[in-house]
Amino acid sequence: MREKAHDYHIIWDECLKIIKENISSQSFDTWFAPIRPVGLSKHVLTIEVPSMFYHEFIEGNFWELLKTAIKKVMGTNGKLEYKIPISTTSGDKTSTMTLPTSTVNTVESQNKNPIFVQDEKELRQIPNPFVLPGIKKLNIKSQLNKNLNFDNFIEGDCNRLARAAGYAIAKNPGKTAFNPLFIYSNVGLGKTHLAHAIGLETKAQFPDLTVLYINAETFIQQYTYAAMSKSINDFVRFYQILDVLIIDDIEFLASKPKTQEVFFHIFNFYHQKNKQLVITSDKSPVEITGFEQRLLSRFKWGLSTDLQIPDKDTRLKIIRSKLYNNGIEDIDEEVIEYLAYRIVTNVREIEGAIISILAQSSLNKKQITVELAKQMIDKFVQNTAHEISVDFIQKVVCDYYNVPVNLLFTPSRKREIVHVRHSSMYFAKKYTDLSLAQIGAKCGNKDHATVLYACRSIGNLIATNKKIKEDLNNIDKILKKS
Ligand code: ADP
Ligand code: MG
Repeated sequence: MREKAHDYHIIWDECLKIIKENISSQSFDTWFAPIRPVGLSKHVLTIEVPSMFYHEFIEGNFWELLKTAIKKVMGTNGKLEYKIPISTTSGDKTSTMTLPTSTVNTVESQNKNPIFVQDEKELRQIPNPFVLPGIKKLNIKSQLNKNLNFDNFIEGDCNRLARAAGYAIAKNPGKTAFNPLFIYSNVGLGKTHLAHAIGLETKAQFPDLTVLYINAETFIQQYTYAAMSKSINDFVRFYQILDVLIIDDIEFLASKPKTQEVFFHIFNFYHQKNKQLVITSDKSPVEITGFEQRLLSRFKWGLSTDLQIPDKDTRLKIIRSKLYNNGIEDIDEEVIEYLAYRIVTNVREIEGAIISILAQSSLNKKQITVELAKQMIDKFVQNTAHEISVDFIQKVVCDYYNVPVNLLFTPSRKREIVHVRHSSMYFAKKYTDLSLAQIGAKCGNKDHATVLYACRSIGNLIATNKKIKEDLNNIDKILKKS
């Protein structure tokens, strides 16, 4: 058997070439472009698909094609495994599920190094992936995904600073005060997208610079391999050759003192030589744990900036842009509004919902209606915490204080009722996107000034009255759980 592929990226790229020739470009973009190869061990190639729905759809509709592609590229023992990120209800963690599938057979392809493109002869001659006599910078592939660029990274209040800093770096790598640029956020809010965008823009501005995007998990694997093969110096030297290093999900380095140590040296080198570092993480440098102090303090040397959950306007823009990119232009505005209203956790969930809806509509030739969107969200995005309604808030607050809900809408000035009314307004402001006037309208026809006054007075009470603070904390917990 011929050893054909050197690593999972190359294997997957080869498979994609075959797949691309056999399906429409729209199907390809929808179903295959978002897949990431993430691992290879013995005969098993692991690919990450965005959701369970994807997995089912691909297995249901493209299985034969996939099988043929894997067979051609990996040989007859090749197998495919799917990795599926699962968001938890709170939307801030991702766990992973791995599903084996009954695919084909292969060559044993045990390449440890996903960075270099080498010819097979060279690969066999060089036991250590980092010792490359006469290594040329040109040989280093950036590992950047051209689909994750600045053009399709929608700007909003949630990401403005990080985006601008990233852009500034790309125009002037290593020469701004943003070194390192440390970007942090919960899952699915665009860290990886922005990381690639920065790399792509840097390459566009400075084609001669060597840029590398790497996930910290891969970095650790490379380090482990280097340690085993006693070639840590070569590993470090490899990283020193680069001009811009983008390291995604640095949290993987937590509680790995040896890898941290080597990263520390790389970091210092970058700093001395004005080379650019971009780091992403699921926590801020202040909150992250399991890191040596000297490394943590260095994370704060440049700029740390976070990505937040997009507000409703930005969600609308993101949805419109994703639909447009999928070739859908004539969709009912109501559907877009509905999606933006229902999915409030992260952008990945938004994408998942859109894909499910498009697939359902094209498979069953159904119109994309709010009803279809609702069905899909309930079915496939069921973990999404939906926005809490004012009615629901009123009910929770009234239950807590044991006050009948209808009293809220009477002109009663009784202290107890006023408190419940004000608390409902306060939580409505906190948990919905409604304006003060809209909240007032739903809380007994009050005007916006009354709602503003209510929110301030509750804020003051929380600061000064222990009992009220405790009660409101309890209500807050109930609302958060729902
Ligand atoms: P993270 O790395 O923070 O978990 P990703 O970068 O993987 O998040 O983002 C999840 C998905 O959402 C990706 O497909 C990405 O393209 C998309 N996305 C995130 N933020 C935006 C944005 N501002 N505009 C457009 N797409 C976005
Ligand atoms: Mg990411």
